[in-house]
Amino acid sequence: KYNEEQAKRRKLHNQVEDAKGNIRVFCRCRPLSKVESSTGCSTVVDFDTASNGELGILNSGSTKKTFRFDRVFTPNDNQVDVYSQASPLVTSVLDGYNVCIFAYGQTGTGKTFTMEGTEGNRGVNYRTLEELFKIAKERKDTYTYDISVSVLEVYNEQIRDLLASSSSSKKLEVKQAAEGLHNIPGLVEAKVENIQEVWNVLRAGSSARAVGSNNVNEHSSRSHCMLSIMVRAKNLLNGECTKSKLWLVDLAGSERLAKTDAQGERLKEAQNINRSLSALGDVISALANKSSHIPYRNSKLTHLLQDSLGGDSKTLMFVQISPSEHDLSETLSSLNFATRARGVELGPARKQIDTSELQKMKLMLEKAKQESRLKD
Ligand code: ADP
Ligand code: MG
Repeated sequence: KYNEEQAKRRKLHNQVEDAKGNIRVFCRCRPLSKVESSTGCSTVVDFDTASNGELGILNSGSTKKTFRFDRVFTPNDNQVDVYSQASPLVTSVLDGYNVCIFAYGQTGTGKTFTMEGTEGNRGVNYRTLEELFKIAKERKDTYTYDISVSVLEVYNEQIRDLLASSSSSKKLEVKQAAEGLHNIPGLVEAKVENIQEVWNVLRAGSSARAVGSNNVNEHSSRSHCMLSIMVRAKNLLNGECTKSKLWLVDLAGSERLAKTDAQGERLKEAQNINRSLSALGDVISALANKSSHIPYRNSKLTHLLQDSLGGDSKTLMFVQISPSEHDLSETLSSLNFATRARGVELGPARKQIDTSELQKMKLMLEKAKQESRLKD
């Protein structure tokens, strides 16, 4: 049974490998809410060919517009169905690749449901970490793994460390490290050894998130919640070390702001969210056009994701939509955004070899050689 499971995972993994070169896009539609159903709200989504990755949107009853994605999840698909399709990327992280999984869409379409899930019905974040530990354990004869987690939030173009002690008000910035990788000096990286520890870290993160905001829902719809998982791996057979990063991101709501009559502090918030999301759109367009300059630095969000979005990493986007006729224009705008993202062709992904470890080993080897020479 164990081998069968491994073979199945390997097969799925290879399928993903075949599809590499693109930003993969999965579309997920939430069910109509109780209120929507009870008020006779009609749905504009047609799932007849969803199993082929096609989604139909009925425009005012008459015309139908079709969108194509790598996968379309209907309201009947559950968290296990959704995760099973994302899971091959987890193997990639353990193999040393940078990965980014993010959920995009209007507020109320299920971004948090997909990423975080609920206590009894967990989402991508928890399932990912659970599987990371499971595979790491299966590979313990050939690899050693060191896994740590950071939880942060981007709000008004400021990075907040949700694992830092509440008294610290350090200002966090993205810096380029020597090997060209980006990091955030001072960010707490909690080393985790098992899923219970992860759970505690995630809980600490979400309670810190609520602190200092008087409307938790509003706050979460206006900020980007980001989980970063750093995996340091050592292949015990050939000594190769990799250091790779997985980002799991629940983005701020993508709804256009013309609708909200924002003023003052609210307006500033709105513009800043806009800035990060439109910067994300610009990065995606630049990648799609194979532009020589990708404007990662135009927002905190894109700067943070720089190593894991585009380039030689693997990216998966969930575009979350509502089935309701009332949300039609936002749904179309999200689907258009996602279609643009799906048009991005990336080069092949590349393993993130940890050269600092390599240097250390070379030095050790040199030293050993010298010592043995001295003995001779
Ligand atoms: P967002 O984070 O995009 O604002 P939420 O994840 O908070 O949206 O979802 C809004 C509501 O819809 C929540 O009550 C959530 O439980 C529910 N919901 C979203 N997606 C689904 C789904 N696929 N199945 C069942 N309920 C869902
Ligand atoms: Mg949310």
